[in-house]
Amino acid sequence: MAYYSIAIDGPSGAGKSSMAKAVAKKYNFIYVDTGAIYRTVGLAAHRRGISCSDETEVAKILPELRIEMKYDDKGEQRMYLDGEDVSSDIRLPEISICASDVSALPAVRAFLLDMQRAMARTNSVIMDGRDIGTVVLPNADVKIFLTASSSERARRRLLQLKEKGINEDFEKVLKEIEYRDKQDSSRDIAPLKPADDAVIIDSSEIDFDGTVALISSVIEERLHQN
Ligand code: C5P
Repeated sequence: MAYYSIAIDGPSGAGKSSMAKAVAKKYNFIYVDTGAIYRTVGLAAHRRGISCSDETEVAKILPELRIEMKYDDKGEQRMYLDGEDVSSDIRLPEISICASDVSALPAVRAFLLDMQRAMARTNSVIMDGRDIGTVVLPNADVKIFLTASSSERARRRLLQLKEKGINEDFEKVLKEIEYRDKQDSSRDIAPLKPADDAVIIDSSEIDFDGTVALISSVIEERLHQN
């Protein structure tokens, strides 16, 4: 059986996960949120009180971590760390920074690569992240690079946090987004950048339904060509 893969990359808060969820539902694909996996490593380092950017220390704990990705009965991806459901804890702003820090470490990227590829070997997937189209799934059938202005992304992130009962300050969220943009784009390994064959979509001025429609038209056009 042939499996399809769709890569959605882009900066923090561009709406990749809501888009990917909507598209996964529409085409009956499995949605894989790869940021959640980096966040789980970030949380583990944070909980142990080690510096998230210290490669030696972080690499030391990797073999002892039991990271699992499971899907609940609503099809939502949940992250488990050593058997504990950490799906909410990994969304805290300090863990976002830690996730970005650990994700710049080659040891962490190598450790997580196969876990991500394994999902695409046995399922049709829509996977979101920073390097899906460039590194994780370079042969993805469809590659989308979704972006938006940093202030629009901060505004959306604030709303998302609010829905989860977390109240944050706009400036703090904007700063965190700008910190991660800079770090994710400038790191040596797997930096955030569109793949050469990605379709770039700027959603700053397009609403949710408009963006889903645009992405769907790209997917249908590409999948029909294959
Ligand atoms: O997508 P999300 O914001 O949850 O990702 C958290 C962090 O994980 C990002 O800031 C980025 O540094 C890192 N990440 C990555 N590669 C991916 C997915 C996420 O480096 N494929």
